[in-house]
Amino acid sequence: MLSIPCPKCKNRIEFDLKDILEGKKFTCSNCNTTVALSYEDNKTTLLNAQEKLDDLKNKLDID
Ligand SMILES: [Zn+2]
Repeated sequence: MLSIPCPKCKNRIEFDLKDILEGKKFTCSNCNTTVALSYEDNKTTLLNAQEKLDDLKNKLDID
């Protein structure tokens, strides 16, 4: 699970990488702000996050 800070209230909004790939939007559970992350705009960040997750999985030996 990844998370981003809400642009309005800084609450952490959790999401899955696949949600972004599917073009889903996220709603802050605290202030109901809708956040739409563009995969293209956030590609580098997301790919880094994915790499870290893969890294972690390798270390934990989970497939
Ligand atoms: Zn919020």
